[in-house]
Amino acid sequence: MSRIHLLSPRLANQIAAGEVVERPASVVKELLENSLDAGATSLELDVEQGGVKLIRIRDDGDGIEKDDLALALSRHATSKILELEDLEAVCSLGFRGEALASISSVSRLTLTSRQKDAANAWQVTTEGRDMQAEVSPAAHPKGTTLEVRDLFFNTPARRKFLRTENTEFKHLEEVVKRLALSRFDVAFQLRHNGRVIHQLRPARSQPERERRVASVCGPQFIQQSLSVDVVAESSGISLRGWIGLPTFSRSQADLQYFFVNGRMIRDKVVTHAVRQAYADVLYHGRHPAYVLYLELDPALVDVNVHPTKHEVRFRESRLVHDFIYRSIHRVIGDVRPDAESVPAL
Ligand code: ADP
Ligand code: MG
Repeated sequence: MSRIHLLSPRLANQIAAGEVVERPASVVKELLENSLDAGATSLELDVEQGGVKLIRIRDDGDGIEKDDLALALSRHATSKILELEDLEAVCSLGFRGEALASISSVSRLTLTSRQKDAANAWQVTTEGRDMQAEVSPAAHPKGTTLEVRDLFFNTPARRKFLRTENTEFKHLEEVVKRLALSRFDVAFQLRHNGRVIHQLRPARSQPERERRVASVCGPQFIQQSLSVDVVAESSGISLRGWIGLPTFSRSQADLQYFFVNGRMIRDKVVTHAVRQAYADVLYHGRHPAYVLYLELDPALVDVNVHPTKHEVRFRESRLVHDFIYRSIHRVIGDVRPDAESVPAL
């Protein structure tokens, strides 16, 4: 008898979920990214018990068509790419079509959505992905609500790895902060166990942006930072944002936000370039604080490196490294102790 068989879709999704869904924070990341990809301008997030009991995200995005509701929960189902070539220029945050399938396989999920001109909303509920998703009419304004309850209720081994409610919430809040820093034009609200934790209105002007950075990173950061605004004429690469004064250095690398074309990343090239720029103004063991935005031609970065997409690969990493190093070095140069003039803050 043959010993090789195909995995059931449910089991395949649960295995894939191991890659994408590690904890409540990863669910929130995927859901918020989907909402942003759908053009949402306002995101309301309610979580209970650190997100383990409930994660509910309501957006005012484009919504999902009735006939696509069940499909959205299937593996490799995406509206974002059609051809391999599309990956080259992908601008959306998601594109693998795995998140909803994975999340629905390890939770009790309800998806409710309404498109702009639809007569009413439609809803589909799944429980640990029992594949028989039934679509029924529902009441909902334009947009989508994803409700994820009882994460890992059917995968006790994974549930065991969850930490305390407080720790899980901190991770989840960090995801919200990153996205809030990446999309100043979008309103965010985060509630935990009924209490409002963050309420961020859209920030358009520079003072409004700084207010948002202050409310996400703490007012001390923005008070003790320098703004960066550098464009390289030849390559068109730009670096903007805020870097902490050397005196605002941290004992941990916990206030370092770096965005490449709007996407928060962690990258050795970037970290090295920033650290080098601070090398002679920071004490050993101290870490710089920064919120920085690098913009460059999408063809010069590969975002398809890892499923959680925290990593990128720069086509010209030397050029990117040197640009970041020189830009920051120059801004810090103005406040170096040996510099001629120290600008007032
Ligand atoms: P991906 O984001 O990689 O395409 P997902 O599993 O996260 O895959 O989502 C599957 C599809 O469901 C998306 O391509 C999108 O068409 C649709 N979708 C998911 N969430 C939303 C949302 N909040 N608003 C509109 N459409 C959504
Ligand atoms: Mg997605």
